[in-house]
Amino acid sequence: MSNHLVWFRSDLRVLDNPALYTAATTGQVTGLFLLAPQQWREHGLAEKKIAFVLRSVDVLAQRLAALGIQSKIIAADRFADAPRQVLRAAEAAQARKVFWNDEIAINEQRRDDAVAQTLMSNGIAVERHQAFTGLPPGSVRKPDGSSYSVFTPFKKRWISIAVEQGIHPLPAPAAQGPAVHTVTAPDALDGIEKSLGADLWPAGEERALTQLTQFSTAAVQTYDTDRDLPNLAGTSKLSPHLAAGTVSANQCLKAAYQSNGGKLSGGSASIDTWISELIWRDFYNHILAEHPRLAMGQAFKAETDQLPWNQSQEQLRRWQQGETGFPFVDAGMRQLNRTGWMHNRLRMVTAQFLAKHLFLDWRLGEAYFLRQLVDGDFAANNGGWQWSASTGTDAVPYFRIFNPVRQAERFDPAGEFVRQMIPELANASAKQTLEPWKFGGVGNYPEPMIDLRQARDRTLAIWKRARA
Ligand SMILES: Cc1cc2nc3c(=O)[nH]c(=O)nc-3n(C[C@H](O)[C@H](O)[C@H](O)COP(=O)(O)OP(=O)(O)OC[C@H]3O[C@@H](n4cnc5c(N)ncnc54)[C@H](O)[C@@H]3O)c2cc1C
Repeated sequence: MSNHLVWFRSDLRVLDNPALYTAATTGQVTGLFLLAPQQWREHGLAEKKIAFVLRSVDVLAQRLAALGIQSKIIAADRFADAPRQVLRAAEAAQARKVFWNDEIAINEQRRDDAVAQTLMSNGIAVERHQAFTGLPPGSVRKPDGSSYSVFTPFKKRWISIAVEQGIHPLPAPAAQGPAVHTVTAPDALDGIEKSLGADLWPAGEERALTQLTQFSTAAVQTYDTDRDLPNLAGTSKLSPHLAAGTVSANQCLKAAYQSNGGKLSGGSASIDTWISELIWRDFYNHILAEHPRLAMGQAFKAETDQLPWNQSQEQLRRWQQGETGFPFVDAGMRQLNRTGWMHNRLRMVTAQFLAKHLFLDWRLGEAYFLRQLVDGDFAANNGGWQWSASTGTDAVPYFRIFNPVRQAERFDPAGEFVRQMIPELANASAKQTLEPWKFGGVGNYPEPMIDLRQARDRTLAIWKRARA
């Protein structure tokens, strides 16, 4: 039996891991994880996300060790070091072949191509798989072979392919021998403590599976009604796990399918909706694979790059700190700053407030989210931002602008979420949490930084001028 190296990245699991499974059925496996703190910082990843990944690597190494698979955790500050480091690890393991599951963004693709070239020129084979999305990028196409840029037809085609193929998550590979000693990631990396956020975000594959089972057998039944109410635990909170790959999209889809009486659509409205959200995740990743320029700061609708986006650092700071004076917006931003996660309804409201009311460059908001989010995922974040700013594929039309007060009336009418997140408003009445300025202000909570109507009219005028 030959020796193989499996290089883990955003697939930190032993279940449903095609690179690991295939390698283990044909050889003796060594696992590899490269820590690239400088590169991660250059990519603007959140410290909480990096800490979550380190904790997930520990759990993965333990699970591999129990299967008799030794792991190596190697520091390779930047992606440019990856070819040399992977080659060294392959040579040390006497591996004849290196396996991995592809990542989708352009820098990761370029890194992988460089690694593949170095390995092959040293006589080591490479086998690449796809495991980040439910269906692989490029596999959902129109009958004429072109790619989709609108979600609804993409989803229809996605479902028809998935129904035809079925969803078959892979089992864990068989043990390769008796358990071996495990390795652990360092307790701190480039000044980031591994324990950062551990109380809120327990990491690793076992935790992801427990959360998936709990959600898909209970709360998913009321997802349709509860998912928009930020004071409820109405969503799965699986996003950090999906981003780090401690659970796969296919494992989630399979669990939903089973709870939905064997259907991907046409079952319970709630489960259908949750499945749709997982397909949105695929959609944005497929779009990114098709249009690598999105990872270079460009708008999907190139003409919107000509809009005179505002760059005010002071306005940006107030938005970032949750001091806009609009409680629903500020509650979302403070949830993000405090926990590293923000409810989806608030992501849309805060993003629209930045890109529409403040007319700040959406890229400033996109980068800030990524720097804070424990679930930061380039494709979903970019897709969500471009949707909100009306610069993206299948985005909200430019003239649709969420009013943060109306949004709060609909989704937090009693002000419970606002009170939880904003200490200055902890004792405010429901009406005060909606429009504190109408009561002459509440405590030391800030005054509104803009007039909503004027800001909306100005933005619409800019868009109309640009379109003319
Ligand atoms: C401006 C903006 C930025 C965003 N940035 C990110 C990000 O960096 N990472 C991220 O994972 N999601 C992002 N989202 C999408 C969404 O807000 C989160 O996936 C969701 O809030 C995560 O919570 P959950 O796991 O409880 O989701 P659930 O409602 O339980 O959904 C299950 C899973 O489906 C996927 N999903 C759900 N909604 C979306 C969506 N609209 N687009 C793509 N995938 C989705 C996620 O993987 C999520 O974990 C963003 C949305 C917006 C509007």
